[in-house]
Amino acid sequence: MSFFAFGQRWSVGQHARPSAGEPRPRTFRSLSSKFSVFTALLMFWIVATILGYGVRQQSFDATTVLALCLVVVLVAAAISRFTLRLLARPLSLLQDGITSVREGRLEPIQVSRTGDEIEFLGESFNRMIEALATSQTEIRQHQELLEERIRQRTEELEHAMRRALAASQAKSEFLANISHELRTPMNGVIGMMDVVMDSRLGPEQREQLETAQRCAYSLLALLNDILDLSKIEAGKMMLEKIPFDLRGLVEDCVKAQGPNAAQKGIQLVAAVMPGIPRQVIGDPLRLRQILANLLSNAVKFTDRGSVRVGLETSAPAVATGAGHLEVRIQVSDTGVGIPRDKLPCIFEKFTQADGSISRKYGGTGLGLAITRRLVEMYEGEIRVESEPGRGSTFFVTLRVEAAGAESRAVGTAGRGQLTESNRPGGDRPAARILIVEDNLVNQKVVTAILRKRRYQVSVANDGQEAIDILERTGFEDPFHLVLMDVQMPVLDGLEATRAIRRNQRWNELPVVAMTAHAMNGDRERCLEAGMNGYISKPVNPAHLLALVDQHLTPIPGGIPPADGPHAPSPGPLAQSLSARLMSSDSDLVESMLHLFLQLAPARLLKIEAAIENSDTAALSAEAQNIIAAARSIAATPVTSSARQIDDAAQRADFHSARAGLAILEEAIRALAVQPVSLAGEPVAGF
Ligand code: ADP
Repeated sequence: MSFFAFGQRWSVGQHARPSAGEPRPRTFRSLSSKFSVFTALLMFWIVATILGYGVRQQSFDATTVLALCLVVVLVAAAISRFTLRLLARPLSLLQDGITSVREGRLEPIQVSRTGDEIEFLGESFNRMIEALATSQTEIRQHQELLEERIRQRTEELEHAMRRALAASQAKSEFLANISHELRTPMNGVIGMMDVVMDSRLGPEQREQLETAQRCAYSLLALLNDILDLSKIEAGKMMLEKIPFDLRGLVEDCVKAQGPNAAQKGIQLVAAVMPGIPRQVIGDPLRLRQILANLLSNAVKFTDRGSVRVGLETSAPAVATGAGHLEVRIQVSDTGVGIPRDKLPCIFEKFTQADGSISRKYGGTGLGLAITRRLVEMYEGEIRVESEPGRGSTFFVTLRVEAAGAESRAVGTAGRGQLTESNRPGGDRPAARILIVEDNLVNQKVVTAILRKRRYQVSVANDGQEAIDILERTGFEDPFHLVLMDVQMPVLDGLEATRAIRRNQRWNELPVVAMTAHAMNGDRERCLEAGMNGYISKPVNPAHLLALVDQHLTPIPGGIPPADGPHAPSPGPLAQSLSARLMSSDSDLVESMLHLFLQLAPARLLKIEAAIENSDTAALSAEAQNIIAAARSIAATPVTSSARQIDDAAQRADFHSARAGLAILEEAIRALAVQPVSLAGEPVAGF
């Protein structure tokens, strides 16, 4: 800044160019320029006064004037310089300091040692800067401390979370791993109960046993739900990819709910879009589980009205991606509905819309949680719309693969057709069956089931023992079937089967896996090892017998085995048995049902003829034939009415036999009609 810097100006926020509408920054004039102007004016006044005085005294002298002007200029320069040094420079330094602070640099300024307020101001400014720097350091330290604490806390939380997840994972893995150990005793309980139920019991004992059986089935259902959820949570649930009949699967699920819906007097309707591909590739077991859960809920929570199932797939032209089909399933009911605020949480595990629900309808709140997870595994989604008092609709969308023309649905084309000639009671001698099972209870259960049908049964405790027994067996009395557990000590079922298959002699011997090891891929492993079939435990007696029948090769010559002793009516539980059957192996059950319904008219005619001819032997034989066939498909009303006819035949009471025949006809008709026909097609031509 110079002495003549009269016009020097600066403004606050010089760098920011004001935009339109913003107030212009205020402009400041420098202190030294103000002083210079003031000094110049003062000098000018002094010179003017002296000159005026000289003119009045007539002592005006040019030299004096010049000398005076020089003095004035020098004094003005001295004052300006003094001002500059004393005021302007320290203030300029202060201003630079403030600018530095504004820009975030806390630097002390150089203080002019003037020994006055200016120096005091400079010192104060530097002290303020020092205090600011100190507090800024403290703030930074504090911030660092806080950040460190947050980091530690986050780490602790993450650690705790990892531990919790690991614990949950361990729990899930534990449950998934012990599923074998849990299912095996259940197998024993249920199997033994089935066996006892088939024996002669007093009405009171039967009722007590039925109650126990109901409890066992509920426990099994709960166990299955918990194990499924654990399997999903442990990441051990994988979807299989096998061809299956989508339409048939939906039909089966609807049929399985038929008895429950009929019991509650509600209509069960299914609408299948025409042109649905018969076969798709996916996991039929899990898809069945999804649909069965939704359907059983719909029936459970509906007291009047109807339950409707809709099935659609994307047209092949709009198939999602290469070879994929979008399957849309809709299950709607006119039941109790779900309150709006509960809708978001019903898919959570152990959640029910209302606490009173478990008391009134039962259930655990696991079904929809499993369903949602399974749908997600199918890359699909599930949602619900509901209105309390009016009903609910569940919408499921999922993706399956379109099956090529060459793929055959599991269970229909791939399996041998069940014919009358290879049933026990047909023209076949008693078959020899080898049970390979390490669990004593299971041995007893399966033995009891098979012996009731007069099969000859031998037991091996492990795979090695099975091979030893087979080797010791002569050609004249061979085994016709092996029921093989998978997990066994010494030699497991897979190894044992491989050893069996290596021997030419047993090339054709059917080996059926019988295992509680119902994990993913087990079926494939068993088939790869050379087994012919697969049944999971707990073994359902009807299912086991049907499977045994299916795999037994016709044995030439010999004495045909009689069917087991007449079992009293298995009671209403057969409905759940039927449901289980339907849901566990629909194709087999379906083909058995079709066969049964096809043969039924001829059998009814024979019964009628036997009554007309008062032929008790023929009447009893025909009734027993029907009992045997109906038991394998768990058609309880048919079995009990046929048994009524058989009893009447024993007493030669043809009046009761005729009444029984009417009931039997009705029961068979119900069997044909009850499974709801889909898309207007009759299920069977009875
Ligand atoms: P659960 O049926 O064993 O209780 P879910 O997980 O299958 O368990 O269902 C959870 C809850 O969702 C049920 O308790 C019920 O409150 C509600 N819910 C499911 N389906 C229906 C339905 N169709 N109608 C009314 N409420 C339903």
